[in-house]
Amino acid sequence: MSKVIIQKGNLVLEDRTIQADLVIENGKISAITLEAQPDEDCTVIDATGKMVMPGMIDTHSHVTDPGPYNYREDWRCASRSAAAGGITTIADMPLPSIAVLNKDRVAEKLQVVENSSVVDFALWGGVTPLNIDKLEEMNEAGCIGYKGFMCFATKEYPQITDGYLVEGLKRTKEFGGLIAVHAENAEVADMGCKRFSAEGCTDEARFDDARPWWVEYEAIQRATLFAKVLDAKLMVCHMTITQGAEYLKDLKSKGARIYVETCPHYLLFDHDILREKKAFAKCTPPFRSRENVEKLWGYVLDGTIDTIGSDHGPYADEEKKRQGNFFLEYSGFGGPFTDEEKGQEGDFWKEYCGFGCNDAVMAAMITEGVHKRGLSWNRLASLTSGNAARMFGIYPQKGSLMPGADADLQIIDPDQEWVYDGLKSFSKTKSSKGVYQGMKFTGKVTSTLVRGELVYDGQNILVPDGYGKLVRRKNGI
Ligand SMILES: [Zn+2]
Repeated sequence: MSKVIIQKGNLVLEDRTIQADLVIENGKISAITLEAQPDEDCTVIDATGKMVMPGMIDTHSHVTDPGPYNYREDWRCASRSAAAGGITTIADMPLPSIAVLNKDRVAEKLQVVENSSVVDFALWGGVTPLNIDKLEEMNEAGCIGYKGFMCFATKEYPQITDGYLVEGLKRTKEFGGLIAVHAENAEVADMGCKRFSAEGCTDEARFDDARPWWVEYEAIQRATLFAKVLDAKLMVCHMTITQGAEYLKDLKSKGARIYVETCPHYLLFDHDILREKKAFAKCTPPFRSRENVEKLWGYVLDGTIDTIGSDHGPYADEEKKRQGNFFLEYSGFGGPFTDEEKGQEGDFWKEYCGFGCNDAVMAAMITEGVHKRGLSWNRLASLTSGNAARMFGIYPQKGSLMPGADADLQIIDPDQEWVYDGLKSFSKTKSSKGVYQGMKFTGKVTSTLVRGELVYDGQNILVPDGYGKLVRRKNGI
């Protein structure tokens, strides 16, 4: 592989930004120098005026491939969409495609991903009551961590009840592994939603009242208590509430090995967007109040929140209207459903949760964080890359611009203005109804490199399907 020089960019390290040249040899960063001398066959990328950052490690993505839902998203499309958004490693969640609950399922998934992805990838396995004895074998098969749902999940992938969560934490601790939880109290969230549905509530913004902040808060307290007393590693997924942030800030200051993830949509949108976008903005935990959104930024800035995940998980437009029954499927009873069970079109309470967004998250953080709220580029690099790499035990191979690291980079024009259009997304589900549709962003990914290869040049994908490689955990902290 030939040499690449990224010239005159603003290199965003986690502690400072320097204007220098970045030299890449054989897919690795080989030097940071003030004036690199190009050889004859060397590729030179001019990055004058641009930010050169470590590629984003998306800690939370649902690609739904292989499996029956790969009409929503597949690895070829999701990884292209990721590359266009500056993401160089996708950490894929173990559902709702084939549930990744043992080493055979890991192998089955790998077979598809290795032939399709244009960016690197890591696989989350699942931790459920059905597979508590399979964590070790999934670790050996290459999983990066184990995800459990404290709220109700699916029949194939049931919620992790407390005893199994404790057992999972004990077992992963033995090999230095990581457990992640979707933290909401199952019964209280479920019964709250059913009550609003039964009462015929037509105000979608009240999804926030149906699964209120304390439903999330209670589950955060319970899971982190277990992790703390066991001294095990735990990630709290897509944390949305300031009360939770304050609690976790205190816990982390006392040395608990807790990592906190949030998603850009919880930092941009409040529950009012549900009135406008209805099921297309439905996600769990729900969108909160505007006051909560603004306060949550404080915990992004102060370091309480460690990582940013997209929670990319598209549904076809038709599915957001009367294609399923969230209560039945996610209370563990499964389908198929009669028309009556599916509910009427527009019955918000029964619609699916989730949406696609992995090509919007970096631009969202730059626009709303860097430009509007004084988030430093350096802190953004930690939030979107460095911290995730350390949490997963893949640092400094990933998440760093230091010599020796994989040359996974995103080059960003910090001032370029553009308008997000889901119809132009590389994602398999091209929708004009998503939360980011029509949003004006300032800051655009103009190039994405994975292991020194230019994967995305601002318009096109330049590497063949299957260029991406599995990233395995090397060490744990
Ligand atoms: Zn998710």
